[in-house]
Amino acid sequence: MRVLLLGGTSEARELAAALVAAGVDVTSSLAGRVAQPRLPVGPVRIGGFGGVDGLRAALADFEVVVDATHPFALGMSANALVACNNFRPLLRLERTAWPIDPAWCEADTHADAAAAAARLGRRPFITVGRQELATFIADLGDHAVLARVVDTPDVVLPRSWELITSRGPYSEASERDLLRTHRSDVLITKNSGGSYTWPKLAAAQELGVNVVMIRRPARPPQAELTVVSSVDEAIAWVQEQL
Ligand code: NAP
Repeated sequence: MRVLLLGGTSEARELAAALVAAGVDVTSSLAGRVAQPRLPVGPVRIGGFGGVDGLRAALADFEVVVDATHPFALGMSANALVACNNFRPLLRLERTAWPIDPAWCEADTHADAAAAAARLGRRPFITVGRQELATFIADLGDHAVLARVVDTPDVVLPRSWELITSRGPYSEASERDLLRTHRSDVLITKNSGGSYTWPKLAAAQELGVNVVMIRRPARPPQAELTVVSSVDEAIAWVQEQL
């Protein structure tokens, strides 16, 4: 049985490693958003499938699909639902969101987050990824922004912005140092959940830095879709399919 694992997350890499170790034929699929992705164990394919039709055609080579894409990657999940419908068993592996801290300012969109951050501080630290940076320029163009991304964005950034290209995970101590050195007064982040990117929030809390948290986009409920939140549950589901 061949498994297609839609990845791009640490959970997807963990699942790929566990399935390969168990002798399961699993191919991981990455969007190709970063130049040098952290590769999972086992076979990997990179790049879009070409929408629902392309994915449906690709499924000829797989019997089972696990969608372990990022909680904010709605497009891939939506395509997987349609392509797999009445054709291939599909599992959604999605880590649990961070519980809301009443001290956070929550925002529904990146644009709302930019407006909220402009009200809350003058020295924002933006950690939302390269694809969304441009959304923050209108509200924060004259702020002393520190933006952290994996790869340099295509957009021209305002002169008052400083860009750091690096990739986590980061320790709480290094996040604290970064917030202190930059003198950040507001942190902007997505509610990605998990422990991987939590240290920046722990550091912000410790230093009394404001937090603007972008809520996860709502996913329409799908009665027929099995959803799990841990890698162990995903392994068990794949083994059941076997
Ligand atoms: P998306 O909206 O889910 O995907 C857009 C298109 O990219 C998909 O329709 C698909 O193209 C391709 N794609 C996405 N994931 C893929 C995968 N695992 N394998 C093959 N193709 C894939 O996701 P996005 O545009 O990358 O990102 C949306 C949000 O998620 C952003 O906020 C981003 O920061 C966040 N995010 C994404 C990733 C990631 O790995 N994609 C990782 C971390 C955070 P086709 O229609 O051509 O198949």
